[in-house]
Amino acid sequence: MEQQTRYIFVTGGVVSSLGKGIISSSIGRLLMAHGYKITIQKFDPYINIDPGTLNPYEHGECYVTMDGMETDLDLGHYERFTGIRTTRDNSVTTGRIYKAVIDKERKGDYLGKTIQVVPHITDEIKRRMRREFDPEHYDFIITEVGGTIGDIESAPFMEAIRQLRWELGQRAVNIHLTYVPYLKAAGEFKTKPTQHSVKEMQSMGIQPDILILRTEYHLEGGLLAKVASFCNVDLDCVVQSEDLPSIYDVPVNMQRQGLDKAILRKTGMPAVAEPDMSRWNNYLERMHSAKDEVTIGLVGKYDLQDAYKSIRESMYLAGVYNDKKVRIRFVNSEEITSGNIAQALEGLDGVCVCPGFGLRGIEGKIVAVEYCRTHDIPTFGICLGMQMMVIEFARNVLGYKDANSREMDEVTPHNVIDMMEDQKNISNMGGTMRLGAYACQLEEGGRLAQIYGSTLVHERHRHRYEFNNMYLKEYEDHGMKCAGRNQESDLVEIVEIPQLRWFIGTQFHPEYQSTVLHPHPLFMSFIKAASEKC
Ligand code: GLN
Repeated sequence: MEQQTRYIFVTGGVVSSLGKGIISSSIGRLLMAHGYKITIQKFDPYINIDPGTLNPYEHGECYVTMDGMETDLDLGHYERFTGIRTTRDNSVTTGRIYKAVIDKERKGDYLGKTIQVVPHITDEIKRRMRREFDPEHYDFIITEVGGTIGDIESAPFMEAIRQLRWELGQRAVNIHLTYVPYLKAAGEFKTKPTQHSVKEMQSMGIQPDILILRTEYHLEGGLLAKVASFCNVDLDCVVQSEDLPSIYDVPVNMQRQGLDKAILRKTGMPAVAEPDMSRWNNYLERMHSAKDEVTIGLVGKYDLQDAYKSIRESMYLAGVYNDKKVRIRFVNSEEITSGNIAQALEGLDGVCVCPGFGLRGIEGKIVAVEYCRTHDIPTFGICLGMQMMVIEFARNVLGYKDANSREMDEVTPHNVIDMMEDQKNISNMGGTMRLGAYACQLEEGGRLAQIYGSTLVHERHRHRYEFNNMYLKEYEDHGMKCAGRNQESDLVEIVEIPQLRWFIGTQFHPEYQSTVLHPHPLFMSFIKAASEKC
């Protein structure tokens, strides 16, 4: 008999950036190891409908789902850790909630009622937290709430959680993540911020069931016991999440402390004696034993850990499966000139030219591509990076000095990258790019088919511009091939210079499909090529 769904709410207190996304993903992974079907969703308290229009300084990377939703980068962690495929329903913002309610109000669905935060906004939140529209059955729905408790914006989410816990009883638990700072001058850890954060939750009518204490150093058992008794939480329901060498060590660390068992006990679900983490543990073993280093340059304009999150993680994952330790060096494309490029790329085994939007930093990317092409350095161009490969080739091989993308130069006579036909009449910026998964047909017997082990693949997109097919023959005659194409639209999806060691550009974003147990074939092949000394 199908068990009734259980609901796990993950909230955070004291400070932001504690890694709720990693914890939610780790919980998902562990519950799967007990044989349960799960999904993980993120509720963000900001007003934007989605993060698609946010710049990476505000929000880090924008992660794209198969069905074309631009979402929070935590969904990337969910997919990488668990291998589940998220959809547009797994990422919800306050903006989307309000829009749904206001649209209903305009249609007259509320039959003359005054629309209020409680119950109308909270009902809409609850409907989505319970995924009432979803035909799939899940044993567990994990809902992570962005922001920090006490924020004005997250109050309706907290109220929805309070109500759901009341309605669902044992079927709903709250896991609250807090921070335990170490005060060097006093030589002590401080639990007061955690106590205050729990009090704040209690004042909203929510008693956390499980506390996860984020800490930079190991906490002794006595301290956990103190938190348990001050915060009305069972002793085995206080666990610590200390800094670890890798985020992928977190699930096992949580398991060691019995977090999975505590969740199952609290929700009344059976635990298996030996949760199956064997493939995960194999991965960790390989990760920790890899010694040889391979250094990859990320040529981009955002010097932020989070800006190219999925690309970074895909590189690390592929490194592990190649038994290599990947080092990533950021190369700021705004600072690249033909005078300093040799120095900027010195010592790199491979170069990834990153995605992006707008003019800033693109000339540096083109200089980098030229250097890599003429020095036969393994090069991976992703989306804008692929477009830069195409432009560089036009300028320096085909002889069109003014070649450009229409995005950067509206009047260039050599628009080798052009706006897609169906983008021309779009006036709204939000959610209107070519988004989500499209089919890509690979050349039979070609290198790409070999890399993928298939001739038909589906990859996720996020762009408005495309390769201009008018120039295709010229490119192919000079050595740059179209190695993958969407047959329906005839769009070029992959370019390659087969004469070079590894020089591939993808119009899509393969980084969104790399997971811990299934590293992406293109990243695998790129790291392998970068590791082979020439
Ligand atoms: N700005 C380019 C376009 O819209 C590339 C986008 C990207 O790199 N994601 O086509």
